[in-house]
Amino acid sequence: MQWDIEVDVVVVGGGGCGLTAALAAAESGLDVAILEKTEFVLGNTAASAGMIPAAGTRFQEEMNISDSPEKMANEILEKNKYTGDPEQTLRICEESASLVEWLVDQHDIKLSLVTEFLLPGHKTYRMHAPPSRSGLELMKMLRGAVRNRDNIYLMLKSPVTKILFTDNNEVIGVETNTPNGMQRIGAKKVILADGGYGGNKKMVSEFIPEIANAIYFGYEGNTGDAVSMSAEANAELKNMSAYQGHASVSEAHGLLVTWGAIMLGGFIVNNQGFRFGDESQGYSEYATEVLKQPEKHAYMIFDREIYNQLLGIEDFKNLANFEAFHYSDSIEGLAEKLGLNSKTLKTTLEKYNDSVTVGEDEFGRKVLPKKLINSYYGIKIVPALFHTQGGLKINENAQVLGMNGTPILNLYAGGGSSVGISGTRANGYVAGNGLLCALGFGKIAGSHAAKSIKQVEVR
Ligand SMILES: Cc1cc2nc3c(=O)[nH]c(=O)nc-3n(C[C@H](O)[C@H](O)[C@H](O)COP(=O)(O)OP(=O)(O)OC[C@H]3O[C@@H](n4cnc5c(N)ncnc54)[C@H](O)[C@@H]3O)c2cc1C
Repeated sequence: MQWDIEVDVVVVGGGGCGLTAALAAAESGLDVAILEKTEFVLGNTAASAGMIPAAGTRFQEEMNISDSPEKMANEILEKNKYTGDPEQTLRICEESASLVEWLVDQHDIKLSLVTEFLLPGHKTYRMHAPPSRSGLELMKMLRGAVRNRDNIYLMLKSPVTKILFTDNNEVIGVETNTPNGMQRIGAKKVILADGGYGGNKKMVSEFIPEIANAIYFGYEGNTGDAVSMSAEANAELKNMSAYQGHASVSEAHGLLVTWGAIMLGGFIVNNQGFRFGDESQGYSEYATEVLKQPEKHAYMIFDREIYNQLLGIEDFKNLANFEAFHYSDSIEGLAEKLGLNSKTLKTTLEKYNDSVTVGEDEFGRKVLPKKLINSYYGIKIVPALFHTQGGLKINENAQVLGMNGTPILNLYAGGGSSVGISGTRANGYVAGNGLLCALGFGKIAGSHAAKSIKQVEVR
Protein backbone atom coordinates (compact mmCIF):
# COMPACT_ATOMS: atom_id res chain seq x y z
CA MET A 1 0.00 0.00 0.00
CA GLN A 2 1.27 3.50 -0.85
CA TRP A 3 0.84 5.79 2.16
CA ASP A 4 0.62 9.59 2.16
CA ILE A 5 1.50 9.62 5.84
CA GLU A 6 2.43 6.90 8.33
CA VAL A 7 1.89 7.16 12.07
CA ASP A 8 1.71 4.71 14.96
CA VAL A 9 -1.89 5.36 15.91
CA VAL A 10 -4.80 6.93 14.02
CA VAL A 11 -7.73 8.21 16.06
CA VAL A 12 -10.99 8.70 14.14
CA GLY A 13 -12.87 11.63 15.69
CA GLY A 14 -11.77 14.61 17.75
CA GLY A 15 -14.31 14.52 20.59
CA GLY A 16 -13.77 13.54 24.22
CA CYS A 17 -13.01 9.90 23.44
CA GLY A 18 -10.64 10.74 20.59
CA LEU A 19 -8.61 13.35 22.48
CA THR A 20 -8.33 11.13 25.57
CA ALA A 21 -7.30 8.12 23.46
CA ALA A 22 -4.67 10.25 21.71
CA LEU A 23 -3.26 11.54 25.02
CA ALA A 24 -3.03 8.01 26.41
CA ALA A 25 -1.40 6.61 23.26
CA ALA A 26 1.05 9.51 22.96
CA GLU A 27 2.35 9.15 26.52
CA SER A 28 4.90 6.58 25.49
CA GLY A 29 6.25 8.76 22.69
CA LEU A 30 4.33 7.25 19.76
CA ASP A 31 3.14 9.37 16.84
CA VAL A 32 -0.61 9.84 16.90
CA ALA A 33 -2.88 11.46 14.29
CA ILE A 34 -6.39 12.58 15.21
CA LEU A 35 -8.61 12.88 12.14
CA GLU A 36 -11.67 15.04 12.79
CA LYS A 37 -14.49 15.26 10.27
CA THR A 38 -15.61 18.82 11.04
CA GLU A 39 -13.64 22.05 11.37
CA PHE A 40 -14.09 22.08 15.15
CA VAL A 41 -12.89 20.07 18.13
CA LEU A 42 -16.19 19.91 19.97
CA GLY A 43 -18.38 16.85 19.44
CA ASN A 44 -21.10 15.87 21.86
CA THR A 45 -18.52 16.19 24.61
CA ALA A 46 -18.59 19.98 24.30
CA ALA A 47 -22.39 19.97 24.46
CA SER A 48 -22.41 17.88 27.63
CA ALA A 49 -22.35 19.04 31.22
CA GLY A 50 -18.78 17.73 31.38
CA MET A 51 -19.57 15.51 34.36
CA ILE A 52 -17.45 12.36 34.65
CA PRO A 53 -18.59 9.80 37.22
CA ALA A 54 -15.86 8.05 39.19
CA ALA A 55 -15.79 5.91 42.32
CA GLY A 56 -13.07 5.96 44.96
CA THR A 57 -11.29 9.15 43.90
CA ARG A 58 -9.20 11.22 46.28
CA PHE A 59 -11.68 14.06 45.71
CA GLN A 60 -14.40 11.91 47.25
CA GLU A 61 -12.09 10.84 50.07
CA GLU A 62 -11.32 14.49 50.87
CA MET A 63 -15.06 14.95 51.48
CA ASN A 64 -15.37 11.71 53.45
CA ILE A 65 -17.50 10.10 50.76
CA SER A 66 -17.14 6.36 50.77
CA ASP A 67 -17.63 4.79 47.35
CA SER A 68 -16.39 1.83 45.33
CA PRO A 69 -16.38 0.61 41.72
CA GLU A 70 -18.59 -2.32 42.77
CA LYS A 71 -21.19 0.03 44.27
CA MET A 72 -21.10 2.20 41.16
CA ALA A 73 -21.38 -0.80 38.80
CA ASN A 74 -24.33 -2.17 40.77
CA GLU A 75 -26.20 1.14 40.55
CA ILE A 76 -25.63 1.28 36.77
CA LEU A 77 -26.75 -2.33 36.29
CA GLU A 78 -29.79 -1.85 38.53
CA LYS A 79 -30.87 1.09 36.37
CA ASN A 80 -30.64 -0.89 33.14
CA LYS A 81 -32.23 -3.94 34.77
CA TYR A 82 -29.09 -5.96 34.15
CA THR A 83 -29.42 -5.69 30.36
CA GLY A 84 -25.92 -4.16 30.21
CA ASP A 85 -22.75 -6.25 30.24
CA PRO A 86 -21.71 -6.72 33.92
CA GLU A 87 -18.02 -7.29 33.11
CA GLN A 88 -17.74 -4.26 30.85
CA THR A 89 -19.57 -2.17 33.45
CA LEU A 90 -17.32 -3.22 36.32
CA ARG A 91 -14.22 -2.77 34.13
CA ILE A 92 -15.04 0.87 33.36
CA CYS A 93 -16.07 1.61 36.96
CA GLU A 94 -12.74 0.18 38.16
CA GLU A 95 -10.96 2.45 35.69
CA SER A 96 -12.97 5.55 36.65
CA ALA A 97 -10.96 6.85 39.63
CA SER A 98 -7.62 6.51 37.87
CA LEU A 99 -9.14 8.18 34.79
CA VAL A 100 -10.19 11.27 36.75
CA GLU A 101 -6.91 11.48 38.70
CA TRP A 102 -4.86 10.93 35.52
CA LEU A 103 -6.73 13.75 33.76
CA VAL A 104 -6.13 16.10 36.70
CA ASP A 105 -2.54 15.10 37.52
CA GLN A 106 -1.05 14.36 34.10
CA HIS A 107 -3.00 16.70 31.85
CA ASP A 108 -4.00 19.59 34.07
CA ILE A 109 -7.72 19.06 33.46
CA LYS A 110 -9.38 20.93 36.30
CA LEU A 111 -12.10 18.76 37.82
CA SER A 112 -13.87 18.93 41.14
CA LEU A 113 -16.52 16.82 42.82
CA VAL A 114 -20.08 17.94 42.04
CA THR A 115 -21.93 18.28 45.35
CA GLU A 116 -24.57 20.79 44.25
CA PHE A 117 -27.12 18.00 43.66
CA LEU A 118 -27.34 14.26 43.12
CA LEU A 119 -27.87 13.25 39.51
CA PRO A 120 -30.72 10.82 38.65
CA GLY A 121 -29.63 7.23 39.30
CA HIS A 122 -26.80 8.30 41.63
CA LYS A 123 -26.90 7.38 45.30
CA THR A 124 -23.72 9.22 46.16
CA TYR A 125 -21.70 12.21 44.96
CA ARG A 126 -19.37 10.87 42.27
CA MET A 127 -19.56 13.33 39.38
CA HIS A 128 -16.30 15.16 38.64
CA ALA A 129 -16.63 18.23 36.45
CA PRO A 130 -14.85 21.41 35.36
CA PRO A 131 -15.53 24.58 37.39
CA SER A 132 -18.26 25.78 35.01
CA ARG A 133 -19.87 22.30 34.92
CA SER A 134 -19.65 22.50 31.15
CA GLY A 135 -18.41 20.09 28.50
CA LEU A 136 -17.10 23.00 26.46
CA GLU A 137 -14.64 23.82 29.22
CA LEU A 138 -13.69 20.13 29.43
CA MET A 139 -13.01 20.05 25.67
CA LYS A 140 -10.99 23.29 25.82
CA MET A 141 -8.78 21.74 28.51
CA LEU A 142 -8.41 18.44 26.61
CA ARG A 143 -7.55 20.39 23.45
CA GLY A 144 -4.94 22.33 25.45
CA ALA A 145 -3.42 19.06 26.68
CA VAL A 146 -3.26 17.73 23.11
CA ARG A 147 -1.62 20.95 21.94
CA ASN A 148 1.07 20.52 24.62
CA ARG A 149 2.26 17.29 22.97
CA ASP A 150 4.33 17.54 19.84
CA ASN A 151 3.68 13.91 18.89
CA ILE A 152 -0.08 14.38 18.38
CA TYR A 153 -1.18 15.73 14.98
CA LEU A 154 -4.70 17.06 14.74
CA MET A 155 -6.20 17.18 11.24
CA LEU A 156 -9.51 19.03 10.96
CA LYS A 157 -11.97 18.78 8.05
CA SER A 158 -10.66 15.26 7.49
CA PRO A 159 -13.49 12.72 7.65
CA VAL A 160 -12.34 9.13 7.62
CA THR A 161 -14.21 7.36 4.85
CA LYS A 162 -12.71 3.89 4.94
CA ILE A 163 -10.81 1.60 7.27
CA LEU A 164 -8.15 -0.31 5.38
CA PHE A 165 -7.80 -4.03 6.09
CA THR A 166 -5.47 -6.75 4.83
CA ASP A 167 -6.95 -9.91 3.35
CA ASN A 168 -6.86 -11.53 6.78
CA ASN A 169 -8.90 -8.73 8.37
CA GLU A 170 -5.98 -6.90 9.97
CA VAL A 171 -6.36 -3.11 10.14
CA ILE A 172 -3.44 -1.23 8.55
CA GLY A 173 -4.71 2.33 8.15
CA VAL A 174 -7.52 4.56 6.93
CA GLU A 175 -8.59 6.71 4.01
CA THR A 176 -9.54 10.31 4.71
CA ASN A 177 -10.85 13.19 2.61
CA THR A 178 -8.64 16.08 3.67
CA PRO A 179 -8.92 19.62 2.29
CA ASN A 180 -5.95 18.60 0.08
CA GLY A 181 -7.76 15.60 -1.32
CA MET A 182 -7.99 11.94 -0.42
CA GLN A 183 -5.09 10.63 1.67
CA ARG A 184 -4.14 7.15 2.82
CA ILE A 185 -2.75 7.10 6.33
CA GLY A 186 -0.91 4.01 7.45
CA ALA A 187 -1.19 3.10 11.16
CA LYS A 188 -0.28 0.24 13.44
CA LYS A 189 -3.50 0.79 15.39
CA VAL A 190 -6.77 2.58 14.61
CA ILE A 191 -9.06 3.86 17.38
CA LEU A 192 -12.67 4.64 16.41
CA ALA A 193 -14.09 7.60 18.36
CA ASP A 194 -16.78 8.92 16.01
CA GLY A 195 -19.47 9.61 18.62
CA GLY A 196 -22.29 7.28 17.49
CA TYR A 197 -25.14 7.64 14.99
CA GLY A 198 -27.48 10.25 16.52
CA GLY A 199 -26.97 12.55 13.52
CA ASN A 200 -28.00 9.86 11.03
CA LYS A 201 -31.81 10.06 10.64
CA LYS A 202 -31.97 6.82 8.71
CA MET A 203 -30.12 4.83 11.36
CA VAL A 204 -32.11 6.46 14.18
CA SER A 205 -35.40 5.54 12.45
CA GLU A 206 -34.14 1.99 11.96
CA PHE A 207 -32.76 1.30 15.44
CA ILE A 208 -34.69 3.65 17.76
CA PRO A 209 -37.91 4.71 16.01
CA GLU A 210 -39.50 5.76 19.35
CA ILE A 211 -37.30 8.88 19.49
CA ALA A 212 -37.05 9.59 15.76
CA ASN A 213 -39.62 12.41 16.03
CA ALA A 214 -37.73 14.29 18.73
CA ILE A 215 -35.16 16.93 17.85
CA TYR A 216 -31.52 15.77 17.68
CA PHE A 217 -29.54 17.81 20.17
CA GLY A 218 -26.14 16.26 19.55
CA TYR A 219 -23.24 16.91 17.19
CA GLU A 220 -24.10 16.82 13.50
CA GLY A 221 -20.83 15.05 12.63
CA ASN A 222 -21.90 11.89 14.45
CA THR A 223 -23.44 9.88 11.64
CA GLY A 224 -22.55 6.32 12.56
CA ASP A 225 -19.48 6.07 10.30
CA ALA A 226 -17.61 3.71 12.66
CA VAL A 227 -20.46 1.22 12.45
CA SER A 228 -20.76 1.37 8.66
CA MET A 229 -16.98 1.33 8.07
CA SER A 230 -16.49 -1.70 10.32
CA ALA A 231 -19.17 -3.75 8.59
CA GLU A 232 -16.58 -4.90 6.04
CA ALA A 233 -14.61 -6.53 8.86
CA ASN A 234 -17.69 -8.31 10.20
CA ALA A 235 -17.64 -6.35 13.45
CA GLU A 236 -20.37 -7.26 15.92
CA LEU A 237 -22.93 -4.64 16.91
CA LYS A 238 -24.50 -4.59 20.36
CA ASN A 239 -27.52 -2.90 21.99
CA MET A 240 -28.24 -0.62 19.03
CA SER A 241 -31.58 0.41 20.59
CA ALA A 242 -29.86 2.09 23.57
CA TYR A 243 -29.65 5.86 23.68
CA GLN A 244 -29.71 8.91 25.91
CA GLY A 245 -32.74 11.04 25.45
CA HIS A 246 -33.45 14.18 27.40
CA ALA A 247 -36.85 15.52 28.35
CA SER A 248 -35.87 19.13 28.93
CA VAL A 249 -34.36 21.19 26.18
CA SER A 250 -35.24 24.82 25.61
CA GLU A 251 -35.64 24.71 21.86
CA ALA A 252 -36.02 28.48 21.63
CA HIS A 253 -32.58 29.00 23.18
CA GLY A 254 -30.84 25.81 22.04
CA LEU A 255 -29.87 25.03 25.64
CA LEU A 256 -30.39 22.21 28.08
CA VAL A 257 -32.57 22.94 31.10
CA THR A 258 -30.74 21.07 33.84
CA TRP A 259 -32.52 18.15 35.45
CA GLY A 260 -31.06 19.50 38.68
CA ALA A 261 -34.27 21.55 38.86
CA ILE A 262 -36.23 18.28 39.17
CA MET A 263 -33.84 16.65 41.61
CA LEU A 264 -34.02 19.73 43.83
CA GLY A 265 -37.82 19.55 43.88
CA GLY A 266 -39.28 20.83 40.60
CA PHE A 267 -41.89 19.05 38.47
CA ILE A 268 -43.16 18.89 34.89
CA VAL A 269 -46.66 19.49 33.50
CA ASN A 270 -48.16 19.11 30.04
CA ASN A 271 -49.91 21.93 28.20
CA GLN A 272 -53.08 21.14 30.13
CA GLY A 273 -51.33 21.80 33.45
CA PHE A 274 -51.21 18.15 34.60
CA ARG A 275 -48.19 16.14 35.74
CA PHE A 276 -47.87 12.80 33.93
CA GLY A 277 -45.26 10.68 35.74
CA ASP A 278 -42.36 10.32 38.14
CA GLU A 279 -39.91 12.84 36.74
CA SER A 280 -37.13 11.70 39.07
CA GLN A 281 -36.81 8.32 37.34
CA GLY A 282 -34.47 9.98 34.85
CA TYR A 283 -34.33 12.58 32.12
CA SER A 284 -33.46 10.02 29.45
CA GLU A 285 -36.61 7.89 29.55
CA TYR A 286 -38.76 10.92 30.36
CA ALA A 287 -38.12 12.19 26.81
CA THR A 288 -40.59 9.67 25.36
CA GLU A 289 -43.08 10.51 28.15
CA VAL A 290 -43.06 14.12 26.95
CA LEU A 291 -43.37 12.94 23.34
CA LYS A 292 -46.59 11.13 24.32
CA GLN A 293 -48.21 14.40 25.52
CA PRO A 294 -50.79 16.11 23.30
CA GLU A 295 -48.47 18.83 21.98
CA LYS A 296 -45.21 16.84 22.39
CA HIS A 297 -43.83 19.51 24.68
CA ALA A 298 -44.13 20.32 28.41
CA TYR A 299 -43.29 22.90 31.09
CA MET A 300 -40.81 22.61 33.93
CA ILE A 301 -41.93 24.32 37.16
CA PHE A 302 -39.80 25.20 40.20
CA ASP A 303 -39.36 27.99 42.72
CA ARG A 304 -36.92 30.75 43.58
CA GLU A 305 -34.91 28.66 46.04
CA ILE A 306 -34.18 26.08 43.31
CA TYR A 307 -33.55 28.82 40.75
CA ASN A 308 -30.91 30.40 42.99
CA GLN A 309 -29.26 27.04 43.67
CA LEU A 310 -28.81 26.37 39.95
CA LEU A 311 -27.32 29.69 38.89
CA GLY A 312 -23.79 28.23 39.19
CA ILE A 313 -24.49 25.96 36.21
CA GLU A 314 -23.36 27.54 32.94
CA ASP A 315 -26.35 26.59 30.74
CA PHE A 316 -28.83 27.53 33.46
CA LYS A 317 -27.13 30.88 34.01
CA ASN A 318 -27.21 31.52 30.26
CA LEU A 319 -30.93 30.74 30.15
CA ALA A 320 -31.45 33.13 33.07
CA ASN A 321 -29.47 35.81 31.22
CA PHE A 322 -31.64 35.24 28.14
CA GLU A 323 -34.68 35.72 30.41
CA ALA A 324 -35.86 32.29 29.28
CA PHE A 325 -37.58 31.54 32.59
CA HIS A 326 -41.04 32.94 33.19
CA TYR A 327 -41.55 34.15 36.73
CA SER A 328 -44.38 35.17 39.03
CA ASP A 329 -45.04 35.60 42.74
CA SER A 330 -48.19 33.48 42.35
CA ILE A 331 -48.73 30.14 40.63
CA GLU A 332 -51.75 31.60 38.83
CA GLY A 333 -49.56 34.44 37.53
CA LEU A 334 -46.98 31.92 36.28
CA ALA A 335 -49.72 29.85 34.59
CA GLU A 336 -50.88 32.94 32.75
CA LYS A 337 -47.37 33.71 31.51
CA LEU A 338 -46.91 30.12 30.32
CA GLY A 339 -50.34 30.06 28.66
CA LEU A 340 -51.60 27.32 31.00
CA ASN A 341 -54.93 27.00 32.81
CA SER A 342 -54.29 28.73 36.15
CA LYS A 343 -56.85 26.72 38.13
CA THR A 344 -55.41 23.41 36.94
CA LEU A 345 -51.80 24.41 37.60
CA LYS A 346 -52.73 25.63 41.08
CA THR A 347 -54.43 22.28 41.84
CA THR A 348 -51.40 20.40 40.45
CA LEU A 349 -49.07 22.41 42.68
CA GLU A 350 -51.22 21.86 45.79
CA LYS A 351 -51.41 18.13 45.13
CA TYR A 352 -47.63 18.01 44.59
CA ASN A 353 -46.92 19.90 47.82
CA ASP A 354 -49.22 17.49 49.69
CA SER A 355 -47.18 14.58 48.29
CA VAL A 356 -44.03 16.19 49.69
CA THR A 357 -45.61 15.97 53.15
CA VAL A 358 -46.48 12.30 52.61
CA GLY A 359 -43.10 11.45 51.00
CA GLU A 360 -44.55 9.85 47.86
CA ASP A 361 -46.84 10.94 45.02
CA GLU A 362 -49.43 9.13 42.89
CA PHE A 363 -46.73 8.14 40.36
CA GLY A 364 -44.46 6.59 42.99
CA ARG A 365 -42.04 9.54 43.00
CA LYS A 366 -40.11 9.63 46.25
CA VAL A 367 -37.54 12.28 45.35
CA LEU A 368 -39.59 15.10 46.86
CA PRO A 369 -37.06 17.22 48.74
CA LYS A 370 -39.20 20.31 49.21
CA LYS A 371 -42.51 22.05 48.66
CA LEU A 372 -42.58 24.71 45.97
CA ILE A 373 -43.46 27.96 47.65
CA ASN A 374 -43.75 31.72 47.14
CA SER A 375 -42.03 32.64 43.87
CA TYR A 376 -42.52 30.39 40.87
CA TYR A 377 -40.49 29.84 37.72
CA GLY A 378 -41.42 27.94 34.57
CA ILE A 379 -40.03 27.19 31.12
CA LYS A 380 -41.29 25.40 28.03
CA ILE A 381 -39.30 22.25 27.29
CA VAL A 382 -39.12 19.79 24.40
CA PRO A 383 -37.70 16.26 24.33
CA ALA A 384 -34.54 15.45 22.41
CA LEU A 385 -32.23 12.68 21.36
CA PHE A 386 -28.79 13.43 22.77
CA HIS A 387 -26.64 10.53 21.72
CA THR A 388 -26.75 6.85 20.94
CA GLN A 389 -25.45 4.21 23.34
CA GLY A 390 -25.32 1.14 21.11
CA GLY A 391 -22.42 0.36 18.82
CA LEU A 392 -19.44 -1.87 18.17
CA LYS A 393 -18.93 -4.67 20.65
CA ILE A 394 -15.61 -4.30 22.46
CA ASN A 395 -13.63 -6.32 24.99
CA GLU A 396 -11.97 -5.18 28.24
CA ASN A 397 -9.13 -3.55 26.24
CA ALA A 398 -11.60 -1.65 24.03
CA GLN A 399 -10.65 -3.87 21.06
CA VAL A 400 -13.45 -4.25 18.51
CA LEU A 401 -14.79 -7.80 18.36
CA GLY A 402 -15.78 -9.67 15.24
CA MET A 403 -18.85 -11.87 14.91
CA ASN A 404 -16.71 -14.82 15.97
CA GLY A 405 -15.99 -13.12 19.33
CA THR A 406 -12.30 -12.51 18.70
CA PRO A 407 -10.70 -9.04 18.37
CA ILE A 408 -10.35 -7.57 14.89
CA LEU A 409 -6.60 -7.00 14.79
CA ASN A 410 -5.45 -3.41 15.46
CA LEU A 411 -8.97 -1.97 15.77
CA TYR A 412 -10.26 -0.24 18.92
CA ALA A 413 -13.38 1.77 19.76
CA GLY A 414 -14.78 3.85 22.61
CA GLY A 415 -17.46 6.40 23.46
CA GLY A 416 -20.33 6.67 21.00
CA SER A 417 -18.63 4.32 18.51
CA SER A 418 -18.83 1.37 20.86
CA VAL A 419 -21.60 -0.20 22.90
CA GLY A 420 -22.10 1.63 26.18
CA ILE A 421 -23.11 0.46 29.64
CA SER A 422 -26.74 1.58 29.46
CA GLY A 423 -28.32 -1.74 28.55
CA THR A 424 -30.78 -1.94 25.72
CA ARG A 425 -33.04 1.10 26.08
CA ALA A 426 -33.28 4.78 27.07
CA ASN A 427 -34.34 3.92 30.62
CA GLY A 428 -30.97 2.22 31.22
CA TYR A 429 -29.07 5.48 30.97
CA VAL A 430 -27.54 6.77 34.19
CA ALA A 431 -26.18 10.32 34.14
CA GLY A 432 -22.50 10.15 33.27
CA ASN A 433 -22.56 6.85 31.36
CA GLY A 434 -21.75 8.76 28.17
CA LEU A 435 -18.59 10.56 29.23
CA LEU A 436 -17.42 7.65 31.35
CA CYS A 437 -17.40 5.34 28.31
CA ALA A 438 -15.98 8.05 26.05
CA LEU A 439 -13.06 9.12 28.21
CA GLY A 440 -12.69 5.80 30.03
CA PHE A 441 -12.58 3.52 27.00
CA GLY A 442 -10.62 6.20 25.13
CA LYS A 443 -7.89 5.98 27.77
CA ILE A 444 -8.03 2.17 27.84
CA ALA A 445 -7.85 1.98 24.02
CA GLY A 446 -4.97 4.46 23.76
CA SER A 447 -2.94 2.79 26.52
CA HIS A 448 -3.52 -0.73 25.19
CA ALA A 449 -2.71 0.27 21.62
CA ALA A 450 0.55 1.92 22.76
CA LYS A 451 1.50 -1.04 24.95
CA SER A 452 0.93 -3.51 22.12
CA ILE A 453 3.04 -1.45 19.70
CA LYS A 454 5.86 -1.18 22.24
CA GLN A 455 5.75 -4.94 22.91
CA VAL A 456 6.17 -5.67 19.19
CA GLU A 457 9.05 -3.15 18.99
CA VAL A 458 10.85 -4.85 21.91
CA ARG A 459 10.49 -8.25 20.27
C1 LIG B 1 -26.47 17.98 25.06
C2 LIG B 1 -25.74 16.79 25.60
C3 LIG B 1 -25.47 16.72 26.96
C4 LIG B 1 -24.78 15.62 27.49
N1 LIG B 1 -24.46 15.60 28.82
C5 LIG B 1 -23.71 14.59 29.31
C6 LIG B 1 -23.23 14.60 30.64
O1 LIG B 1 -23.40 15.54 31.39
N2 LIG B 1 -22.54 13.52 31.09
C7 LIG B 1 -22.27 12.47 30.26
O2 LIG B 1 -21.63 11.50 30.70
N3 LIG B 1 -22.65 12.46 28.98
C8 LIG B 1 -23.35 13.50 28.48
N4 LIG B 1 -23.71 13.50 27.17
C9 LIG B 1 -23.22 12.42 26.33
C10 LIG B 1 -21.73 12.64 26.03
O3 LIG B 1 -21.58 13.95 25.56
C11 LIG B 1 -21.25 11.63 24.99
O4 LIG B 1 -21.53 10.33 25.45
C12 LIG B 1 -19.75 11.76 24.80
O5 LIG B 1 -19.41 13.11 24.60
C13 LIG B 1 -19.30 10.94 23.62
O6 LIG B 1 -17.97 11.27 23.32
P1 LIG B 1 -17.35 10.82 21.94
O7 LIG B 1 -15.96 11.29 21.93
O8 LIG B 1 -17.66 9.39 21.73
O9 LIG B 1 -18.20 11.62 20.85
P2 LIG B 1 -18.10 13.17 20.46
O10 LIG B 1 -17.64 14.01 21.57
O11 LIG B 1 -19.41 13.49 19.84
O12 LIG B 1 -16.97 13.19 19.33
C14 LIG B 1 -17.13 12.49 18.13
C15 LIG B 1 -16.34 13.23 17.05
O13 LIG B 1 -16.12 12.36 15.94
C16 LIG B 1 -16.24 13.11 14.75
N5 LIG B 1 -16.51 12.20 13.63
C17 LIG B 1 -17.65 11.54 13.32
N6 LIG B 1 -17.46 10.77 12.24
C18 LIG B 1 -16.19 10.94 11.83
C19 LIG B 1 -15.41 10.45 10.75
N7 LIG B 1 -15.92 9.59 9.84
N8 LIG B 1 -14.11 10.86 10.62
C20 LIG B 1 -13.58 11.74 11.52
N9 LIG B 1 -14.27 12.26 12.55
C21 LIG B 1 -15.57 11.85 12.71
C22 LIG B 1 -17.38 14.06 15.05
O14 LIG B 1 -17.37 15.15 14.15
C23 LIG B 1 -17.07 14.44 16.50
O15 LIG B 1 -16.24 15.57 16.56
C24 LIG B 1 -24.39 14.57 26.62
C25 LIG B 1 -24.67 14.65 25.24
C26 LIG B 1 -25.32 15.75 24.74
C27 LIG B 1 -25.59 15.83 23.26
